[in-house]
Amino acid sequence: GEALAVSARVAPLGSRLVLLLVEDLTEARRIEAVRRDFVANVSHELKTPVGALSLLSEAVMDAYDDPEAVTRFAGRMQIEATRLTNLVQELIDLSRVQNDDPLEDAEPVTVDELVAEAIDRCRHAAGTKQITMAAGGTADLWVHGNRGQLAAALGNLVENAVNYSPARTRVGIAARRVAGAGGDMIEVAVTDQGIGISDKDKERIFERFYRVDPARSRATGGTGLGLAIVKHVAASHGGEVTVWSAENQGSTFTLRLPEAGSSRDRARHRPDHD
Ligand code: ADP
Repeated sequence: GEALAVSARVAPLGSRLVLLLVEDLTEARRIEAVRRDFVANVSHELKTPVGALSLLSEAVMDAYDDPEAVTRFAGRMQIEATRLTNLVQELIDLSRVQNDDPLEDAEPVTVDELVAEAIDRCRHAAGTKQITMAAGGTADLWVHGNRGQLAAALGNLVENAVNYSPARTRVGIAARRVAGAGGDMIEVAVTDQGIGISDKDKERIFERFYRVDPARSRATGGTGLGLAIVKHVAASHGGEVTVWSAENQGSTFTLRLPEAGSSRDRARHRPDHD
């Protein structure tokens, strides 16, 4: 309706405008298709654990006289419930990073605290796999942005590094300042010695719900939304996320973010002064 009204207004103005309008409609149609795909994907992703929970609850009822089986089925129900919780949480995170203006309550944030939080979040998973985590170069670096979103972004990268690595490997986090076109940038690189990513998949891993190996991703509680969130956070902060990877050798994901402004501004936000 709106498009038609606009079309009636601009049509007399010449064919160039009409052409622009057609391009606009094509873009609108593309966005609509992306939205429809997204809803279809979400429905599918929700149905999988819900279906499993339903089957498992039936199995529990049938096995009422076999306590061992009941325990086994209940354990699997717990895994499916966790998967659902993760998915819902990531959907909330995704909608938050897409809708909120991250710079509205932007502040200087220390890289130290972002890294510490990311490591904390993965400590349990890393411990189970005896993966060593080490960080370097993070001292005295500040980025400018939304603390919660930045923590979520870095946390996702470190979580992936742990999830897609075999036991007894190392995950390294290295930060440094680099010169950018519009001022200094802070680079935080997360390196793992994991399964790596093929060139073909590298182009798609930042898409929502894209997973190289859906079965493996599901086993680790993955949703396929993590890197889409990271990419969105990086872009909306005026930064970017890039990947280097070699199959069966490992990957490095690099998050580049604008450095925080004046030192006075930073002093006000120094965590121990809060
Ligand atoms: P997921 O929830 O599946 O981890 P992500 O969006 O975080 O979703 O990642 C998308 C896919 O990219 C993963 O399913 C995995 O196949 C691949 N991937 C992400 N990080 C790594 C990594 N560090 N090493 C190898 N593969 C990775």
